[in-house]
Amino acid sequence: MSLFDTFGRVHNYLRISLIDTCNFGCTYCVPQQKPGKKKAEELMSAQEIYEIAGVFVGLGIDKIRLTGGEPTLRKDFGQIIRKLSEYPVQLTLTTNGFLLHQFIEDLEVAGVKSINISIDSLREERFKAISKTTGFQTVYNNIFLLLEKGFHIKLNVVLMRGVNDDEANDFIELTRHYPLHIRFIEFMPFTDNEWERNKVISYQELIEQLSEKHALIKLPDQLHDTTKKYKVAGYKGTLAVISSVSNPFCSGCNRLRISADGKMRNCLFAQTNMDLLTPFRNGEDIVSLIEQNVKAKAFQYGGQQMTPDIKNSQMLLIGG
Ligand code: SAM
Ligand code: SF4
Repeated sequence: MSLFDTFGRVHNYLRISLIDTCNFGCTYCVPQQKPGKKKAEELMSAQEIYEIAGVFVGLGIDKIRLTGGEPTLRKDFGQIIRKLSEYPVQLTLTTNGFLLHQFIEDLEVAGVKSINISIDSLREERFKAISKTTGFQTVYNNIFLLLEKGFHIKLNVVLMRGVNDDEANDFIELTRHYPLHIRFIEFMPFTDNEWERNKVISYQELIEQLSEKHALIKLPDQLHDTTKKYKVAGYKGTLAVISSVSNPFCSGCNRLRISADGKMRNCLFAQTNMDLLTPFRNGEDIVSLIEQNVKAKAFQYGGQQMTPDIKNSQMLLIGG
């Protein structure tokens, strides 16, 4: 079975947010008005995550990414990822990396090959200003620890004008000696995150800027890729740009999302969601609800325009 929307896009990729809270307070993600924490019973349990994911797998999902909030904050994170690995899916996660060293065995047992770690600055003080934590050294060490253990590591960097855009070359420098894959993400607007269009470093601007210093080689794009990939000749790693604002990749979108409280969203910018957890708990069949939500998917940005007024939820709730 496959999940087709009305634009003929097939959906095989599910992103599950495990938790709606975080141990970091990144300025571009956590709204100034912090959202209230949900009660534990409002969130999907490990068993519910496993069973609901199983319904999606039955509908053609073959890639699952765990995200959050910060997914590794869940006490049962290891158990969740090990259980999900029973499914024939490519399993991966996006994390701020702070607690990763505690889960290496779980990740290995679960067969996780690739991990996205978010790090927006290589300068300790600036990292602190952006993330509101003193976790720089731990995150940095964990990146290299996981690399040593043989994981494929992608680094997510949200570039913001006047904040950290002067570090793009420093990140690229990391790829000279290490097989790290840097992904520069265009700053996106979310509720109350102080987004302004002129803070966005666009794909075109960034590539022009980087080309002044490096001879960039364009790498081929894959179907469903959200990134435009490049490398510098002779460097071990790669760089890529996620151009969600300037150059959206919606036409090839294959993603669906569930929030930690079991609400399905067909787009990061969807204005509505579909509660799957309540009917699931009532023993109802959620297949038709999932299909209905996929069919309701708009072509782009949840049917909205990319402006500061774009209506959406908060990254912390949806997961990136
Ligand atoms: N806590 C984990 C982390 O930071 O990797 C997972 C959740 S976080 C919401 C997922 C990704 O979304 C991160 O890479 C983060 O940088 C990105 N993100 C959050 N807010 C963003 C924004 N306003 N624009 C672009 N990317 C954003
Ligand atoms: Fe937390 Fe990730 Fe958001 Fe930063 S980007 S506040 S680490 S959820």
